[in-house]
Amino acid sequence: MARRIAVIGAGMVGVCAASYLQRDGHDVFLVDPGTPGEGASFGNAGAFNASSVTPVAMPGVVRNVPRWLRDPLGPLSLRWTYLPAVLPYLVRFVRAGTADKVHAQARALRPLVGPTLAMLQPLVRDAGAEALVQQRGHLYVYRSAASLAKDGLAWALRRENGVAVDEFDADELRQLEPVLSREYVRGLLVRENGHTSNPFGLVSALVAHFVRRGGAVVRAGAVGFRLDGGRLKAIQTDIGELPADAAVVAAGAWSKPLAAALGDRVPLETERGYHLMIRDPEVMPRIPTADADGKFVATPMDTGLRFAGTVELAGLNAPPDWRRSRILLEQGRRMLPGLAAHHAEERLSLWMGHRPSLPDSLPVIGASRATPDVVYAFGHGHVGMTAAPMTGRLVADLISGRRPAIDLSPFAAGRFG
Ligand SMILES: Cc1cc2nc3c(=O)[nH]c(=O)nc-3n(C[C@H](O)[C@H](O)[C@H](O)COP(=O)(O)OP(=O)(O)OC[C@H]3O[C@@H](n4cnc5c(N)ncnc54)[C@H](O)[C@@H]3O)c2cc1C
Repeated sequence: MARRIAVIGAGMVGVCAASYLQRDGHDVFLVDPGTPGEGASFGNAGAFNASSVTPVAMPGVVRNVPRWLRDPLGPLSLRWTYLPAVLPYLVRFVRAGTADKVHAQARALRPLVGPTLAMLQPLVRDAGAEALVQQRGHLYVYRSAASLAKDGLAWALRRENGVAVDEFDADELRQLEPVLSREYVRGLLVRENGHTSNPFGLVSALVAHFVRRGGAVVRAGAVGFRLDGGRLKAIQTDIGELPADAAVVAAGAWSKPLAAALGDRVPLETERGYHLMIRDPEVMPRIPTADADGKFVATPMDTGLRFAGTVELAGLNAPPDWRRSRILLEQGRRMLPGLAAHHAEERLSLWMGHRPSLPDSLPVIGASRATPDVVYAFGHGHVGMTAAPMTGRLVADLISGRRPAIDLSPFAAGRFG
């Protein structure tokens, strides 16, 4: 039966959910206070990594934290004034990173991220956006055999979950990607992975197609829900009530108060990340490439070369610290020595965005505690672009009353007690 459905949040997750719901014949509208696609989905590394099954909290990760925090070029920074607020999250994060838990988390993630390109394909085909998605694999590069060995568990988790990996030595790596620094001695290529050459362009194209097919985009911020007898009647927004039979909470890092309004307390945190782009770069890798030690990715994009990554814990409201973006340029020059030592400012662009993260690196997908009519789809952390297409399909399954394509129990909102 066709229902009137509000999708709250027009990032990659929201638009994939809206698109799959619309394909089921529902009357769908997106609700967002900003321009669709200008949240975390705007400036990420663009990777559709089917192999992204490794949680962020891994056994031993805490041992690296002091070193990372001391290193100005390191992948992690913390605003000390934010420590008291983020402490409960960090405690849960450490507890989530035990050996047995990370195996279970990886098993849960694989069916969500594995089919990413297959689930995205019908959406980009219908939207005429196929040119924005490529499958050239994803390359992980290491400066020493020792640093590769440190990532042993991550590679074991990928392999255990059926990810095929090709390993290259220094000479082979040079042939594969001649622009990379000769300091790299090992490269691991996952061929099943893809990427978009323009994340914002992709979200925009999907939204445009959704609108062409009769969907609406309402510029408003959702603040709550009106229920009657356990059934949804309307979503409440800053421009008033919008009647709806069902709703999807896909407001990324801003979803926490919306879940709380329905009685679900989730430890959602923002892991802020940065990018730096160089327009008309002197060199650019062909394959998206991750520096495993520096924890950043270099992605070839339509509009230039994008370095993206790093984690900053500072909450939703603190202003960006642009030094974090500039650090990526320094790191990037070490990766690609052919880049010029200086670039005119007008060739550079800097960005900060909010990854919506949960301590166990699993999103929340499933019905709310208060009503089956509101379905959650948030908290995808580092893998939200990748997991969005399958999440969209799962949300449509739930709202249309079909049995979800995969087991959703690891993603329940109630798992945090
Ligand atoms: C530096 C960096 C690199 C990354 N690289 C990758 C990568 O290579 N591959 C990958 O898979 N993932 C990557 N990610 C993660 C990915 O970007 C996110 O997980 C993903 O974009 C989250 O999508 P979303 O739709 O949930 O949230 P968002 O894109 O943030 O969208 C949420 C939307 O909700 C709206 N909103 C907020 N409050 C309300 C409200 N009250 N009512 C209505 N709407 C509201 C916002 O305006 C926003 O438009 C990266 C992230 C960062 C920061």
